[in-house]
Amino acid sequence: MNELEKKLQQLDHQSYAKLKQIAGTYRADDGVELAIDYVQGDPFAAPSRVRVRIPMQTSRLRREDFSTPSRTISLKHLFTKACSKTAHKQKTITGTGKSGMIMIDAPGPEVIDRASVSFLSDSIEFRLSTGIPAAGRKILGKKAAELLTKQLPETALKAVTAITRADIEKTIQLQDDQDEGRRQIETLQGCAFIANGSVLPRASGISSAPMKNAVPFQSPSSQVVELELPHRGKVRGMLIKKGVTLIAGGGYHGKSTLLQALERGVYNHEAEDGRELVWTDESAVKIRAEDRRSVWNVDISAFINTLPGKKQTTNFSTEDASGSTSQAANMAEAMQAGSRLFLIDEDTSATNFMIRDARMQRLVSPDKEPITPFTDRIRPLYETHGISSILVLGGSGDYFEPADEVIVMDEYVPKDRTKEAKAIAASLPAERSRPADHEFPKNRDRSIPASSIQNRWHPKKKVQAKGKNTLLIGKGAVDLHDVEQLVSPSQSEALAQMIVWCVQNSRNDESLSSVIDRLYETVQQSGLESVSPFFPKHPGNTALPRKYELYAAFNRLPFYK
Ligand code: ADP
Ligand code: MG
Repeated sequence: MNELEKKLQQLDHQSYAKLKQIAGTYRADDGVELAIDYVQGDPFAAPSRVRVRIPMQTSRLRREDFSTPSRTISLKHLFTKACSKTAHKQKTITGTGKSGMIMIDAPGPEVIDRASVSFLSDSIEFRLSTGIPAAGRKILGKKAAELLTKQLPETALKAVTAITRADIEKTIQLQDDQDEGRRQIETLQGCAFIANGSVLPRASGISSAPMKNAVPFQSPSSQVVELELPHRGKVRGMLIKKGVTLIAGGGYHGKSTLLQALERGVYNHEAEDGRELVWTDESAVKIRAEDRRSVWNVDISAFINTLPGKKQTTNFSTEDASGSTSQAANMAEAMQAGSRLFLIDEDTSATNFMIRDARMQRLVSPDKEPITPFTDRIRPLYETHGISSILVLGGSGDYFEPADEVIVMDEYVPKDRTKEAKAIAASLPAERSRPADHEFPKNRDRSIPASSIQNRWHPKKKVQAKGKNTLLIGKGAVDLHDVEQLVSPSQSEALAQMIVWCVQNSRNDESLSSVIDRLYETVQQSGLESVSPFFPKHPGNTALPRKYELYAAFNRLPFYK
């Protein structure tokens, strides 16, 4: 560190561009290491990237804390959050632009594998961003030395020492309970579970904090199961079994809130989130209408057949899908990606994709209507493909027949109304005519459009995320706004890196699913950071997306043609 201090003294008041010289690795007497991987071009540019290593023995971690991969993930979450807190508390060094800023990629309430912290054999590595101090375009040598040699190591060190043994144990115990709970749901043939007492609503539409004074979740007695968790012991809650579940109920009674909690239940949540005991089959995909999205070569014929102008739908492509065709494409793609549970909300669905009643069938004859409503596909989807559905629909009783369970939300409390719904269906038949069964899309795979990506991919232009909802690829953009289970911009950043990895590592004519499988194997073996183009340097602010979101990104690339 002395060496770095000296360099910075010499650079004091010199032009900012000269800062590039300080890239490199430095060591302090106490064993703390600082690696300056990337130095920003000017005080307003993207901040500099550094890694700080704190000796493992400084922490209260023990070897057995890392006995499962999921424990390691939850510890990364804990250490990142702690570091984010100490970074906020550092008294700031002032200067031009981002001068003095210290940042770590802070996680939301979802516990997702991330590159912000890495546990090495004898140290803990924090991946930070910082703004090296300047006055105008001149280096502030003394302040820069203070920031890099004192504040950065301190930020990481204070985070590590602030974490008590009790914090660590609480974290891994919750993780073990979550792992075991998910296993038990699978054994019980469930596709989702919500513990009694869970808090599902959020404080506001833009907040991920739990709502204060919310009505706590309470399972209907017919659906209650009791799980036995290793640390928490017995936990009771509602099991949603595999099959078709309809969630009905009056407007504003909490249907969408329940479904959103299930959408997020593919991830584990941290303690005190309110949803830490809400677990959904981790392959669950929210299926929604997404008009205007582009679709490339998808077989949607099970849902939509022969569009106007005799347009075939076994190979459907468009740059501007309608509500129903986009929802059909989302469904076919999720099937191909291997999802076993579809989550559907009336609020984000195309009506004509979801329902078509007897009267409309009479007015518009079947040969003039390309869409087979989902009412007629939802059962075969489960029976022949094993794909369950949880459906929020308050506006039509057409799903009473195909549903295995009908739950009615009543003032935020779910009630089991299956018997009544079945009796109503028997006494008031829907009188709809049923279309013939149709084969679901085959598992036809595609290959990566590597050549077309590379053609349009200006070599100097990177694939990068712009916030959570957009990927920029050369001259094109991928809109991920409606990929609703993407929860963090760091996942989008990872998606950008993963697309590059897939394009660069795909073998001739290799199918997309094969490359994606190899990618996730690599992540499992060598860590998320290993697919970053910058690794082993600071890998960027990335968090692991599920493979369903990676498929979603590929399926929306503007370059298939
Ligand atoms: P629906 O889809 O049935 O129309 P929503 O799920 O959109 O209803 O919920 C309506 C409102 O009620 C939202 O503002 C939501 O935050 C709130 N809400 C949902 N669940 C609860 C709850 N358990 N306790 C208190 N408020 C809730
Ligand atoms: Mg709703």
